[in-house]
Amino acid sequence: MRVLFCTKKIAAIIIAASLLLPRVSFTQTGRPNILVIFSDDHAQQTISAYGKSLMETPNIDRIAKEGAILRNTFVTNSLCAPSRAVLLTGKYSHLNGLKDNDPKRRFDASQQQVQKLLGASGYQTAWIGKWHLQTLPQGFDFWRILPDQGHYYEPDFINMKNDTARYHGYVSNLISDFSLDWLSQRDPAKPFFLVVGEKATHRSWLPDLTDLGAYDTISFPEPANFHDGYAKRVAAANQDMTIARTMQLQSDLKVGVNFSARDDSQYGRMTDEQKSGYKKYYDRITAEYNAVKKDSLQLLNWKLQRYLKDYLATARSLDRNIGRILRYLDSTGLSKNTVVIYASDQGFYMGEHGWFDKRFMYEESLRTPLVMRYPGHIKPGTDIGRMIVNIDFAPTFLDAAGVSKPADMQGESFLPLVSGNQKQTWRTGMYYHYYEYPEPHRVAPHFGIRTEKYKLIRFYGVHDAWELYDLTNDPAEMNNLYGEPRYNKTILTLKARLLKLAAFYKDKEAVKIMEQKTGTSSR
Ligand code: CA
Repeated sequence: MRVLFCTKKIAAIIIAASLLLPRVSFTQTGRPNILVIFSDDHAQQTISAYGKSLMETPNIDRIAKEGAILRNTFVTNSLCAPSRAVLLTGKYSHLNGLKDNDPKRRFDASQQQVQKLLGASGYQTAWIGKWHLQTLPQGFDFWRILPDQGHYYEPDFINMKNDTARYHGYVSNLISDFSLDWLSQRDPAKPFFLVVGEKATHRSWLPDLTDLGAYDTISFPEPANFHDGYAKRVAAANQDMTIARTMQLQSDLKVGVNFSARDDSQYGRMTDEQKSGYKKYYDRITAEYNAVKKDSLQLLNWKLQRYLKDYLATARSLDRNIGRILRYLDSTGLSKNTVVIYASDQGFYMGEHGWFDKRFMYEESLRTPLVMRYPGHIKPGTDIGRMIVNIDFAPTFLDAAGVSKPADMQGESFLPLVSGNQKQTWRTGMYYHYYEYPEPHRVAPHFGIRTEKYKLIRFYGVHDAWELYDLTNDPAEMNNLYGEPRYNKTILTLKARLLKLAAFYKDKEAVKIMEQKTGTSSR
């Protein structure tokens, strides 16, 4: 587009110069290995590559520095199991069948998935770590998965004969151990596709012993909207995911825990050494709690501090283990022909709106981190602002492997963006649809559109309400502009775009709701 504004002479120089740039396709030098490190609930606000961060993450930052950071990456349905189903299928929840975390809703593992397509084209495929889909993996040459959410300490893993075994140690370390074992035992004649499914940083944030208290000297500022009163936002006002009321003293904040119990619970399964480390540390935390518990404001700030400190200490092990994997790739020479991708299943609230957890289409949980590296193909320091959606992950893996994308996959490969061959057209609005209600956090079902400037959300079912945000002037999404006459035209335009997107992605339920109740011509 830029050449349109240049004189012919300048345009000719630009074209000539661009021809001199290396234009090596991903598969031109042999098919790359694809290593995806996929974490859980890891917020962009806690990753230093994204700028202002609550902590340093040197190893995730290294991937970004040596490759690309994608600043605007969003998920279609901000929840654990649905996000993994999107990763595997490249399809929205209403098409892949997994709309929520309800254990009764089983993922149909017989359907088309990216690992099956890669396997059929000659890749060795493996998934190691958190899986969270209620059906066992299909189409991987190797897998070893945590049952459901899994445990941080002394975790059980399900092996390929559907036999479950307990392993000694801390989950992030074990997932790396198993991943490095698999890498060292694989057939080096074939390219590989490995997903390292991290459990961190999921609730209830149990740090590795070595990281306990790593952030205790820091007093974190409260987010500006920590004491949000949810004015003009009925769904936000009725959720159950606040640090003040929803967060559990014992299971989340580890206050007053009896570490001597011996059972299958998250503390009961610990070894004596693990228990003793936890008891020593959290006895002190319990004493801190007793000192502040009578003052409600002081207590609320204390809960925020404790939540952040445990979350960040858990993330510290995640980042360290990513470093281990990167060093293995370096030491074996695999770095140069491996596409390394780091992403989470969604973002998370670090106290914004008074919350932990995810679900809402608001920025903190709509976003997910995404950094990737492929030496010689992605220029170090590449910085992408275009809107990526997690339906793009599977098409991108296929593109990297030189495998054609099936027509029914709904995303697009972002390799052209990161490798400098920017496409002329790319999406300027993304579509979201969340379902799970009422348990566990009473977040009303909703769908919506996010553009570069605005976000329009439609809550339905339990609440029938619209919300509109100006993301440039109100990035914290505190001021619902829906219903303000000066936005009538914007709302009409956005509703038409939302309807079009819902239809494009074949979301019949959302189309029906929009057509039946309000239509696109009424407000
Ligand atoms: Ca998650």
